[in-house]
Amino acid sequence: MSAQLFVVATPIGHLDDMTYRAISTLESVSLIAAEDTRQSAPLLKHYNITTPLTAVHDHNEEHKINAIIQKLQNGENVALISDAGTPLISDPGFRLVRAAQQAGIRVTPIPGACAAIAALSSVGLPSDRFLFVGFLPAKASQRQAQLEQLKDHSETLILYEAPHRIVDCLEDLQNIFGAQRRIGFAREITKTFETIVQKPVAELLTWVKADHNQQKGEMVLVIAGSDDEVDHEQQKVDQLLLRLLQDLSIKAASQLASDLTGLKKKALYQRALELQDKI
Ligand code: SAM
Repeated sequence: MSAQLFVVATPIGHLDDMTYRAISTLESVSLIAAEDTRQSAPLLKHYNITTPLTAVHDHNEEHKINAIIQKLQNGENVALISDAGTPLISDPGFRLVRAAQQAGIRVTPIPGACAAIAALSSVGLPSDRFLFVGFLPAKASQRQAQLEQLKDHSETLILYEAPHRIVDCLEDLQNIFGAQRRIGFAREITKTFETIVQKPVAELLTWVKADHNQQKGEMVLVIAGSDDEVDHEQQKVDQLLLRLLQDLSIKAASQLASDLTGLKKKALYQRALELQDKI
């Protein structure tokens, strides 16, 4: 059988998330192409994998591709891994996989951990249609422009974000998507301080700002799509306020609605004012 390029997922934190197939594949190939050989060394040591490593990252990928394709054409199997999770998902590897395909070499995925999918599977937002956005631009003006383009998407959005930008990003999300848009926040998945919550962006922002630990580590944001999820939540709140406004003042109705829903009293007061006008 001719040689294959295996695209092997590795854990995103918990070493036990390595699959049996990933271990046996990495043991059996002639060469492992790793994003950063120093990052992958502890994982390989943990599983006593002694296969030679070569670094293939964004800066040398083009240059390394020819040598790897040559190896594959000589009948030697090669595995591609990244620092964590699934290669090519906000990680290098696309050019190598494309080159292998173009050279007629079979590319075999060895699936496993991926932070985006782990987050989507656990935050409790619609998962039937989603758009993986990856990292937003670091520059504020570019990030805001991209969020403007995304705000009316009806499918769930998945973002990767760096800890030092999480507060700025949530502020932009609040300003552009509105305070009530629901966000799933999945931090340090599979690690000791794993945190999975889902709140309206305004509440999430207040909570993250108040607790500096929430601004550390690795994180994924899962954002509800623009349609029913938000409308549905808003409709429920509106129904509650309208009922309370039949018997109570705006102040008392918003206070009671806040007690019942956990939403901010100030926002509910504003909404009650708007609804009062319509009654
Ligand atoms: N290839 C990886 C995957 O399959 O998820 C993603 C690599 S990307 C360079 C790294 C980003 O993924 C982090 O900045 C974070 O947004 C997300 N991430 C990776 N591991 C994570 C974890 N354990 N918990 C939460 N987010 C994680």
